[in-house]
Amino acid sequence: MPDYNDLILILQELDLGDKPVVAHASLRAFGQVSGGADAVVTALLYVARVLVMPVHTYKTMVTPASGPANNAVNYARAQQWNRLAEPFDPNMPADVMMGVIPENLRQRPQSRRSTHPILSFAGVNADKILAAQTLENPLGPLMEVANADGWALLLGVDHTANTAIHLGEKLAKRKQFTRWALTEAGTVACPGFPGCSAGFEALEPALRPHTRSAQAGEALIRAVPVRQVVVKTIEAIKQNPLALLCERTDCERCSAVREGLR
Ligand SMILES: [Zn+2]
Repeated sequence: MPDYNDLILILQELDLGDKPVVAHASLRAFGQVSGGADAVVTALLYVARVLVMPVHTYKTMVTPASGPANNAVNYARAQQWNRLAEPFDPNMPADVMMGVIPENLRQRPQSRRSTHPILSFAGVNADKILAAQTLENPLGPLMEVANADGWALLLGVDHTANTAIHLGEKLAKRKQFTRWALTEAGTVACPGFPGCSAGFEALEPALRPHTRSAQAGEALIRAVPVRQVVVKTIEAIKQNPLALLCERTDCERCSAVREGLR
């Protein structure tokens, strides 16, 4: 069972230098880690001077009675979920779907968080990256990491968790969505909301030549330059406008992208 010292040695094999890192991680994928999420985050902070992770808060989401067409929202059906929404609070924990590792990072005393009511990031030594996120530009932090020649680091997760692919989709002019969040100031519209990521593993062969990998316990750890992720995503969509969409016939967001291309 690896502990944080082992994890540091394994992460050092990736030779990430002093570039910023956007990490996506599943603790469960490691099998067992001595020290759990705390050990993983401690090791990441040792290796990455600048570290960010998404700490999204989906429970803030609400849906108005009507809104843009072809937005992958069933406005009538979504009304029933509005009563479960909670207003965004900067101290709100990361959604359970994000896993325990980002939440551990968020709770570190030196950690800061961006203020997007749904798609916030937490980070250490990452003020400039976090400040790049606005309500209109939720993927701004990823652009900032790309511009700084930073890394997307996948710990026990595949490219369906690689949010940098969403930045590539946006830059390739793929359809983005509007969602809404409850805040202390009332309901706010959140444009530029990305699509579905279930088909993203299809980009793996194109990214493989740019990927550094290492094994920690049962988890495969991969590092890819964010800039390459963006470039390869744009190339894939240029070649085939339907690239990286998922195969589920009932996927509302992928269907809306297809519909928008007709
Ligand atoms: Zn989909």
